[in-house]
Amino acid sequence: LFITFEGGEGAGKTSILREIGEQLKEAGHPVVTTREPGGVKIAERIREIILNPSHTEMDGRTEALLYAAARRQHLVEVVLPALREGKLVLCDRFVDSSLAYQGYARGLGMEEVFKINQFAIEDCMPDLTLLFDVSPEVGLERIATNKGREKNRLDLEALDFHRSVQEAYEILAKEHSDRIQRIEADRPLREVMKEAYEVIIQRLSS
Ligand code: C5P
Ligand code: MG
Repeated sequence: LFITFEGGEGAGKTSILREIGEQLKEAGHPVVTTREPGGVKIAERIREIILNPSHTEMDGRTEALLYAAARRQHLVEVVLPALREGKLVLCDRFVDSSLAYQGYARGLGMEEVFKINQFAIEDCMPDLTLLFDVSPEVGLERIATNKGREKNRLDLEALDFHRSVQEAYEILAKEHSDRIQRIEADRPLREVMKEAYEVIIQRLSS
């Protein structure tokens, strides 16, 4: 089963994924937790190029292609082998991030960006996507107070950019209501995590 975690900055994806991964392992599930962009050597190097705060001249299409390239490498090296072994894969961000950030917020068009991603992922879509729906105000506040978080190029974006990311996720959730499950993420992370865990457990037992 392939489960992806999506949502804007400061939604809690990374912390919640780590915690839920541990809990599922303790409960005896074979779990692989990973993240995008990155997760393997080549993709982590691409991540450094994309997110380097000094790369302000990065073109939008270049950015979209680099994300797709990193996604491909990570899929082939981590996700597909784990799925073949029957493992549960929890991935921090996947194709919906590109549709929301590059497709919608950067204005390249969700369909255009989906096309290059289809080339990258072929037909490997997530079985379930948890959308951690955070308002930009709450998310950015969380980021500002999270000292462990690495700075990146997206930190320079204005509130409006993050608003359009949230809007994009809303559109995707409506369009793919069979796959994407929305979770209200403005609440304390404990509560958000509890709901996410329950959704996953329910899916595992269905
Ligand atoms: O989720 P994480 O914080 O690791 O993502 C790193 C940065 O990359 C974030 O600022 C996120 O907004 C950005 N990103 C992006 N487009 C994607 C995926 C991530 O702009 N497709
Ligand atoms: Mg994160």
